Amino acid sequence: MKDYYEILGVSKSADEKEIKRAYRKLAGEYHPDKNSASDADKKFKEINEAYSVLSDSQKRANYDKFGNAEPFGPNSGGANYGQQSGDFSDFSSAGFGGFEDIFSDFFGGNFNSSQSRSDSRRDNSGEDIHAIMDITLEEVIFQTEKEIAFYAMVKCSHCSGTGSKSGKVSECTTCNGTGKVRRVTQSFIGNIAMESICNVCKGTGKVITDKCSYCIGTGRTKELKKMKIKIPLGASDETVLKFSGSGSAGINGGASGDLYINIRVQSHKLYKRSGNDLLRNISIDVPTAVLGGVVETETIYDKVNLKIPAGVQDGEKFKIKGKGVPFIHGHKVGDYIVTVKINIPKRISSQEKKLYQELKNI
Ligand SMILES: [Zn+2]
Ligand SMILES: [Zn+2]
Repeated sequence: MKDYYEILGVSKSADEKEIKRAYRKLAGEYHPDKNSASDADKKFKEINEAYSVLSDSQKRANYDKFGNAEPFGPNSGGANYGQQSGDFSDFSSAGFGGFEDIFSDFFGGNFNSSQSRSDSRRDNSGEDIHAIMDITLEEVIFQTEKEIAFYAMVKCSHCSGTGSKSGKVSECTTCNGTGKVRRVTQSFIGNIAMESICNVCKGTGKVITDKCSYCIGTGRTKELKKMKIKIPLGASDETVLKFSGSGSAGINGGASGDLYINIRVQSHKLYKRSGNDLLRNISIDVPTAVLGGVVETETIYDKVNLKIPAGVQDGEKFKIKGKGVPFIHGHKVGDYIVTVKINIPKRISSQEKKLYQELKNI
């Protein structure tokens, strides 16, 4: 049996904080992205397993007492186990809670996902995943591909998603393989037939007698998935990208859920975005404001020379067409709008003072 305390390198009396600290350190060290050693992956899984038990007070107590996280866990051979793990949604929330919170540190906030599976859809299809992707203004304007990492349930590699050790799956006798049961209730207006999901097979129509011990018969395991996403030109905070079938795998080979990525565009230090226009203030000196001139200004694409007419007023705006944000649909591009700020000097040289004095006397 594995010693979870030893795996995390903490004492048996370690408190929650110590365990979390040890886990963060080790998970960072052995993360397959950062550690290329051949056994890093195995070690990483082990660390996760240890943490999932020791971070849960109930599981930790069971582990301390019985040497197992579940009172009727796979190693203790308890007869109740099948029944306990039957409701997968419970297993999911109990087994993996709190991981996302820790992993967001490794992925710069990119990793922020949640799973949803409405109760009305208690069939064997996989959960939809909602993730947030932070992008820069430059990534909105120039074609970019970006990687996103998120947790999803994937097909169990040990049983090829069947949930069965030997690959043997038999038809559910309760629903005759249909996954649904009909119940007829008598009432004063006659018989009412109600159809519901079969409780025994959870709607899959199949029953597994020799459950795979890696996925506990569900046919799927939780894993960190990575995907390269092409960011659409002109994306904004309202943009949600849908990837059908890229969510969690279904239970026992059921249909996969969808992946939704909510785009979040970071603010830029030079440009303010207003729809498809980019806004910026530029400062000019008093002589240029009075006499006019040419000022070089940077757009997000290149440098342009902006002609300032003589007598320009503070706050006057100039539009440079086509140097803004592309429209997400179509081929139009927004504009770059420059607001002129006249820079009135607080300190001037004696020569300047003389010239201003002369101007005043005219
Ligand atoms: Zn399996
Ligand atoms: Zn059934």
